[in-house]
Amino acid sequence: MILPQGPSLNPEQIREITEIVESFGCHIRPIVGAVRTIYAIVGDERDELMINRLEGLPYIERIDRIQSPFKLMDIRSDLATHKIAIGGVTLGKKLLVIAGPCTIDPKNPNYFYETAQAVKEAGAHVLRGGVWKPRTNPYAFQGDDKSLDILMEASRRTGLPVDTEVMGEDQLKLALDAGVPMLQVGARNALNYSLLRQIGSAVAGRKTIVLLKRSLHMGTLNEFISAAEYVANFGNPNVILCPRGTAPALDGYRNHPDESIVPLLKERTWAPVVVDPSHSVGRASYVPACALAAIAYGADGLCIEAHVQPSKGIGDDPKQAIVPSVLAEIIRIAREIWTLRRQAKAV
Ligand code: PEP
Ligand code: MN
Repeated sequence: MILPQGPSLNPEQIREITEIVESFGCHIRPIVGAVRTIYAIVGDERDELMINRLEGLPYIERIDRIQSPFKLMDIRSDLATHKIAIGGVTLGKKLLVIAGPCTIDPKNPNYFYETAQAVKEAGAHVLRGGVWKPRTNPYAFQGDDKSLDILMEASRRTGLPVDTEVMGEDQLKLALDAGVPMLQVGARNALNYSLLRQIGSAVAGRKTIVLLKRSLHMGTLNEFISAAEYVANFGNPNVILCPRGTAPALDGYRNHPDESIVPLLKERTWAPVVVDPSHSVGRASYVPACALAAIAYGADGLCIEAHVQPSKGIGDDPKQAIVPSVLAEIIRIAREIWTLRRQAKAV
């Protein structure tokens, strides 16, 4: 819908906008109002270049798009009934819990094995563990290929499917060759379109699930869903959205907790939403409140950093990992909120 700056366009201006939209296979239909005439674009109005050309005209106030920019991830797309399942949970039918350490310590694999067993007993369905880590400081531990064997060994021992972050093509190949069923795209890479395309093309034709974190800086809803569309458009729509807090931080927290974004996402996309409270708040003591709020907001699941001995962990674990007994308690209450929320008719 084209909204002119003045009450209507003159014949020369109408000729100009008509020429633009017709070159993109659309046409113009004026809608005459009492005070202003607006111009509907009839046809597929999603072409960015057409919109940019129209928006660049000095007599145009703005273009309101009626059509969603997402062909696949949109709530009204044919994929809206697509179901994603992992660890015995179909997203949307039952609360999904992903839990485990931030970072696998290749020198002390037993912490990971013990944590894997403990999060399973606490009720987690998927085991997380960072093999390769995006670290702000180049001298900090960057992860280790050896940790991939530890991750897969823990998966064999517990029977839990695993989730780990990949940051580039080599890691992507190693993880897929090892059989990692859930790949995480971290907040720092959430808008790395060449990585999103590489992942999309590598997982096409597989059952692999992509856990897409929300970008670190307050990204718009459309930016978040479009990143998922990048992955999905190669043929595998198994993408889960993961809000994890944004910058700038709320005073006292690691980031700005953004679990309140869930109802807004649910209005626009069918993609399941799994909230990560650990990176949102950044302190173990605040994680339960953030996790339970996420479920109240309608999240389909949680991705939580947990460790049997957080103080012995590496990466984020000493600060933000919760112990398995707290995880079990969060899962217990989260399930209750989950069920109450879905039973209630009006909320
Ligand atoms: C993580 O999951 O440990 C991590 C680094 O996440 P994020 O990309 O959200 O910072
Ligand atoms: Mn972490």
